[in-house]
Amino acid sequence: MQQVERAEPQDFERVLSSMCTVPHPAARQAAERFLATNPGDPGTYETVAELERRAVEQLGTVAGLADPAGYVTSGGTEANIQAVRIARNRADTDDPNVVAPESAHFSFRKAANVLDVELRTAPTTDHTADVDAMQELIDGDTVCVVGVAGSTEYGYVDPIPALADVAADAGALCHVDAAWGGFYLPFSDHEWHFDHADIDTLTIDPHKVGQAAVPAGGLLSHSPDLFDELAIDTPYLESTSQVTLTGTRSGAGVASAVAAMDALWPEGYRETYERAMDNAEWLAEALEVRGHEVVGPELPLVAADLSVPMTDELRDRGWRVSKTGSGEMRVVCMPHVTRSMLRSFVADLDWY
Ligand SMILES: *Cc1c(COP(=O)(O)O)cnc(C)c1O
Repeated sequence: MQQVERAEPQDFERVLSSMCTVPHPAARQAAERFLATNPGDPGTYETVAELERRAVEQLGTVAGLADPAGYVTSGGTEANIQAVRIARNRADTDDPNVVAPESAHFSFRKAANVLDVELRTAPTTDHTADVDAMQELIDGDTVCVVGVAGSTEYGYVDPIPALADVAADAGALCHVDAAWGGFYLPFSDHEWHFDHADIDTLTIDPHKVGQAAVPAGGLLSHSPDLFDELAIDTPYLESTSQVTLTGTRSGAGVASAVAAMDALWPEGYRETYERAMDNAEWLAEALEVRGHEVVGPELPLVAADLSVPMTDELRDRGWRVSKTGSGEMRVVCMPHVTRSMLRSFVADLDWY
């Protein structure tokens, strides 16, 4: 306990690597108020269960879906696992596979492992899903085709309508992973959601750009029937079945997601997007004039070919930056990342 009292939580002053951010004040307050509630037991915790329905409504609005089915997950990982689980359970095959671009988040590897499904990944072109390459991997045992709307490494958006068509032709479900991008994309020109394409399930995380407290992810579908694929009987609860992967869940996450979306949708998120995009473009330009090769920004995320020693030096100076699989430095322009932070970051680069 004394240990905890002495420890200071991470401040965000120099954090450029995270996909999480400072929660909105209303989200923080809601999280604290609902800390001791469990939406996994809706018969007992009715208020938070009602808030969860509200959260799903709001997430549907963000993702172009009236009357959404879904729930607040522990994060994008659980949502992706559950999407693959829906696809596997509904399909009639003993040897199911999922086809995804190689840019898909590593949570799909967990899903494949846990669910005993084969994950087939296709090479990308310009960091974006290559529809032909994915088509080549699809066969009669393909249960799900994955598209990423805002990739973790580069913030790029796959051609979702084309992937949805390919999935439909194969009789597979189309799942879109907008865990990170979901609260930036509505203000961009990208086609990514239920109203743009014939998609079946979608991951969107309030605890990333949505500015809710951790843990709050989201899984949505146009059809409650798809969630029936996940239903497990719950003998001793008042509710008779459960579709979630976890049992006891965070009421704090649920309440904070509603509070954040109430406070920010749509104008607050729009302003956040515009500021983040301006910052990302400013940083990309600053890196380019210093001779670096830059990827993006397509959404507010910039990758650049800084040398590993340079990235390590920045880390020694307290900056939290991360690397892509191919070794580029990656800066995620989250809501807490300001222009003045980026100016001092670039000043440190110049010193090096
Ligand atoms: C962050 C992320 C995930 C995983 O979400 P968690 O909330 O960390 O479990 C999945 N997909 C994408 C595209 C992400 O950026």
